[in-house]
Amino acid sequence: MNVRMLSANAVFLMLPALLAACSDAPRPPAVSFRIQNVPPVPRTMAQMSREVHINRDFMSPRSRARRAAHSMHPRFITIHSTANPKGDAAAHARALKRGAMGSLNWHFTVDQYRAVQHIPLNETGRHADRGGPGDMYSIGIEMGEVRSHNPIVTWNRSAKLTAVLMKQYHIPLRNVVPHYYWTGKNCPAPLLTNGRPGHKWSWFISRVDYYRRCLETRPAAAF
Ligand SMILES: [Zn+2]
Repeated sequence: MNVRMLSANAVFLMLPALLAACSDAPRPPAVSFRIQNVPPVPRTMAQMSREVHINRDFMSPRSRARRAAHSMHPRFITIHSTANPKGDAAAHARALKRGAMGSLNWHFTVDQYRAVQHIPLNETGRHADRGGPGDMYSIGIEMGEVRSHNPIVTWNRSAKLTAVLMKQYHIPLRNVVPHYYWTGKNCPAPLLTNGRPGHKWSWFISRVDYYRRCLETRPAAAF
């Protein structure tokens, strides 16, 4: 091996380390899932956003949680589940606005009927890892667990919202992560298997991927 080859190899070997050094955001493992065979139904961003039914109900900028926020360019989406069988999305919005969550906050709560947005998307929340990379780089989505709501509808609405945000911020599918990814917490519990990502999490990711493809498919030309 001559010197030139050696140096080329050295650069090649160092490349992952150099790339890692460029960013302090971690790189999550890829999730394996089965691509859904259903043909995508093309939708525009506006159409899919309407299907998600987003209500903005922001916390006061003077609230304790928002006063501690940093500016953010989202690179991840963190999925949570509320573990609260009583409160719907509007109830979580009220709780956040009256300061009942202390220093905690997140960007959206989703239930069977709507997604309520609590804070702007260019602002960090505090939902993942006490101010660590999960909070500094990710949009936090809480999925409701109201007993009278259909969880599949809530999860699908959350998957659609995730697809819209991925397209808006150019976030890759592998950066859609469960809260578990940041801290090992059993969250979103209904979509984990024995406290870890398994077949239910793969199903959720397959739904996100399906809606992502719906946004990327052009409608067939009319003849
Ligand atoms: Zn969580």
